[in-house]
Amino acid sequence: MFHLRCIACGEVYDRREVIYQCPRCSGLLEVVFDLSEISVTKAEIESRAFNLWRYRELMPVEDYTRVVSLNEGGTPLYRADTIAEEIGVKELYIKNEGANPTGSFKDRGMTVGVTKALELGATAVGCASTGNTSASLAAYAAKAGIKCLVLLPAGKIAIGKLAQALLHGAIVVGIKANFDVALKLVREICAKHNIYLLNSINPWRLEGQKSEAFEIADQLGFEAPDRVVVPVGNCGNISAIWKGFKEFHELGLIDELPVMTGIQAEGASPLVRAFKAGESSVTPEPKPETIATAIRIGAPVNAPKALLALKESRGIAESVTDEEIIEAQKLLARKLGVGVEPASAASVAGLKKLVEAGEIDRSERIVCVTTGHALKDPEIIFHRYEKPIEIEPSIEALEKVING
Ligand SMILES: *Cc1c(COP(=O)(O)O)cnc(C)c1O
Ligand SMILES: [Zn+2]
Repeated sequence: MFHLRCIACGEVYDRREVIYQCPRCSGLLEVVFDLSEISVTKAEIESRAFNLWRYRELMPVEDYTRVVSLNEGGTPLYRADTIAEEIGVKELYIKNEGANPTGSFKDRGMTVGVTKALELGATAVGCASTGNTSASLAAYAAKAGIKCLVLLPAGKIAIGKLAQALLHGAIVVGIKANFDVALKLVREICAKHNIYLLNSINPWRLEGQKSEAFEIADQLGFEAPDRVVVPVGNCGNISAIWKGFKEFHELGLIDELPVMTGIQAEGASPLVRAFKAGESSVTPEPKPETIATAIRIGAPVNAPKALLALKESRGIAESVTDEEIIEAQKLLARKLGVGVEPASAASVAGLKKLVEAGEIDRSERIVCVTTGHALKDPEIIFHRYEKPIEIEPSIEALEKVING
């Protein structure tokens, strides 16, 4: 079975308690499985459909036949030889999380999160979001038939994500402040009005997201890569992926563990600064700024978990500029045919920077996670890329164009 445990003071809590942080010390909670009770073989796993519920024994739900699912997970792992060559590494893969039902890895968290919400008797769910969390929660709440409230930093949301939250019928509220303020507000309203909170402070959500690790290992023939590179905002995903690898390792499904590498945008890089200074907690960035809206976060709530993941895996953290992010987005789009939103491209931009700096060995087997789909943020493409060409409707004018 499984229960909740505080990562700061170690206190344990029953899985049926509706808590998001340790009631004793406010520390972050994590879900702990008794792995000695779990026996699942590679052959059993391989006999099932390729989606998140392929790893059902490691998902903390009471009854997996009643989960709220949109068939999330099962995303492609592309071998990216052309990009590997460009960057100068031997073996590179792209785990394309944009291929999830609502276009980001958040769906992995929400299938478990919304299932837990129903198990705990909730009739409404809420979140603050830089965009993808709200898009995903709105869809899963719709599937579950419960109400959904989302708070967004007004005017700072990529248009595709906002459209999704509206499309799925969430109550969408723009807050005239940044994400960190919106998160504080939604935590208050959730506590006051019995709305179940599904930000990544919620430990159940991260359980769904750890399946990214299971899938990567599974797709590599039950082997961990040498390194996994992850874009980092609120620090939930990198922590979840590390937890997934640790559990597969403990169960004997993989023999090695990867090195975790977290990449932030330069204008929103509190984790990177804390990591480089060797600090055990982050100093919030009051005015986070980057075109990569999904990681424009100044006070990452899961930073303690991410710092632990970096420490345990002997990992590293680095930041990249917006220009480097766009360059990597272009590389993915034009050398691999994979369209990603800017935040996603941070992983590839970070890899390039770290390889050039000699911090990553060129002979490693590396997986870069791309977190969200290009159509989440079409405006960035219109602003940063070539404009469409308009001409008079004549063959001569058209020939002029194709002849350059
Ligand atoms: C949420 C998100 C991130 C950041 O993940 P964290 O768990 O907040 O660190 C990165 N990229 C995309 C596309 C996202 O939606
Ligand atoms: Zn505690």
